[in-house]
Parts: sequence; structure tokens; C-alpha cells
Amino acid sequence: MQFEHLPHPAPVAAADREALIADPGFGKVFTDHMAMVDYDTGEGWHSATIGPCAPIPLHPASSVLHYAQEIFEGLKAYRLSDGSMALFRPDANARRFNASARRLAMPELPEDVFIDACKQVVLKDADWFPPIEGGSLYIRPFMFANEHFLGVRPATKYKFLVILSPAGNYFKSGAPAVSVWVSEYTRAAPGGTGEAKCGGNYAASLVPTGEAFEKGHDQVVFLDAAEHKWIEELGGMNLFFVFDDGSMITPPLGGTILPGITRDSLMTLAREQGLDVREERYSLDQWREDAGSGKLVETFACGTAAVVTAVGKVAGRDGEFSIGTGGPGQMTSKLREQLVGIQRGTVEDKHGWVVRL
Ligand code: PMP
Repeated sequence: MQFEHLPHPAPVAAADREALIADPGFGKVFTDHMAMVDYDTGEGWHSATIGPCAPIPLHPASSVLHYAQEIFEGLKAYRLSDGSMALFRPDANARRFNASARRLAMPELPEDVFIDACKQVVLKDADWFPPIEGGSLYIRPFMFANEHFLGVRPATKYKFLVILSPAGNYFKSGAPAVSVWVSEYTRAAPGGTGEAKCGGNYAASLVPTGEAFEKGHDQVVFLDAAEHKWIEELGGMNLFFVFDDGSMITPPLGGTILPGITRDSLMTLAREQGLDVREERYSLDQWREDAGSGKLVETFACGTAAVVTAVGKVAGRDGEFSIGTGGPGQMTSKLREQLVGIQRGTVEDKHGWVVRL
């Protein structure tokens, strides 16, 4: 599919852009361009453009506004040590996007169109790359239903877009270890949409996340819906538990957890080094007990936005406990270095994960 490049009447002036990317934070600044592709039943995907990043007019009956038929992805463009740019496993994001599309009764998008849209916007707005340590261009592909119809059934019209946001550190504090709050709310139930990356899951997580922030924590931990016993994931990250014998476990994907690409990459890297990594259920009670006895030495969270971040403190209705030294442990630091090294081109990429632009 060919993307038509539309003229931009008023891109941001260079001096303003430089001020914006000097300290972009996360998700606040957007670049000049976006990709957009339309879908109609019958015609399929058509009208692919790279044009100005601007408001999109929506009819008030647009179905996404009523029934939340929306999915998204999140990946980053990195600056390699040789100055070029690359994406990390965009094919995995394209596949997960289509898995989400199937769950939300939306049309699948050819993987090459997904990847090409990401690449083309990044190349177009390469001068928005933040010139800071750990900086990246966060890529947000998304799709929503925009048929004007109030009946409850899958829409016949959709839009796929890709926007970019220059990013610095995800956690405000840039903390070496984060503190998490175990929520009484449930994120996802068996048979629901937990493993899909749909907006609705995140809408439902806002109250529990707000509660975590109010209580002074960085992230929320969700437990399973049925027994409220087993650890599932954080609001926007997967979890790993590291034991004193060097083994690790991460909760298994059972339909209620987002299959993180960082999670998958870290499992691969760890197993290659001969580490015992198991996908196994782990309960909150066991977590507390093992942290107390010293059997559990580290816990870390991982995801595109926050990379690999140590969890230092856990709090919930029944009190709180600390993990290890409260800061990043050896395994957390080692895996983080390896992953970041591959993403930045300083560690060999044996898996073809790095896609140069
Ligand atoms: N879980 C949830 C709920 C998330 O939103 C994310 C971020 N996409 C992750 C886990 C981590 O996924 P990834 O490593 O693909 O960014």
C-alpha cells in the first residue's frame, strides 16, 4: 500500500520544537505528522496518507464514542549508537494489534501496512527525536470504529492512525525502584478482553490507578478476578519475580494478561543464558512470605514505556512489605542492560529484533 504524503501548511518552528523535546516527559508532546488509513467493508483498507498531525472531525454518532470499539499499540523508535534509528520488534506489535482487532470484532490490518506506517512517520519526523539520555520517539498506532450508527454490532468503517510522541522517562521520579499498590479492583476476567490492547481495559484501570497514586505509589498491581489471589500484572507492565537460586517466574498468559513484548524478549534473553524462567502462577501471600524470608530477592516490572524497573515496595489492604534491598537487584540491572543494549545497538541482536530505518 502506498502512503500519499500530504503537504504540511504549518509545521512547528525549529526553535519551538527544540524547546519541546528538551524535556518531553511522557505522552505530552506530539510531532508534526501522522499516518492515517481508512477502512470500509467492501472496499477494505484504502486512502493511506502521511499528513499533518491534526484534529479529526468525528460525527457524534461515531460508534467508538458509544461502544468503545478501539484498540492501540505502543512501541518506540530508538537512536542506535551509530546515530541511525531503529524500531524494536514492530512485527510483534503488528501481530498483537491484529489479535486485539479480532477480539474487538475489528478488521485486521496487513502487518506490512502497520510497520510501514510506523516507519514512514518516524522518518518524516526524525528531527523530533529527543536529544536526551534514554530518549526515544514513542509510537502510538491505533484503530477505532467511526461508522455513524447506534446499533450494537461491529462497525463497517474504521480508521487506523499512527502518531508520535517524543519521550523521556516514564516514571516522574525516574526512580531506581518503584512502589506498587495491590488493588481490590479487577482488571480482567476470564473470557473478557484482558489480553487485548483495547482502550476499554485502560478506562477500567483509571480508578484503581488513581487510588495507587493517591496513596503515594507509582503503579497498581492487579490480582485475578476469580480468587483475588494470584498476581496478574501492573496497570501498564508485566511482572517478574527473581529467587535466591537465580530462577525466575512470571505469571502465565491465560487470556487476562497483556502478552508484553518486553516480557517475551526478557524470557528469551534469560533462557538463552541458561536461567530457569517459568510461566507460573504466584500468589500475593507467597510474594509477601518469600520477600520476608529472603527467598525472593528481586521483583521487576517490564514494558515498552518503562523498560525494566525494579519494584522496591508493595502495599495493599493488609499492609506493606519491601523487596530485597528496596533498589534494583543484580538480575534486574543485568537484564535491563542487555535489553537496552540490543535496542541501542551496543549488544549483538541475535534475533533480528532491531529493524533499522
Ligand atoms: N501490560 C499492560 C497492561 C500494558 O499496557 C503493557 C504496555 N503495552 C504491558 C503489559 C507491557 O507490554 P509491552 O512490553 O509490549 O510494552
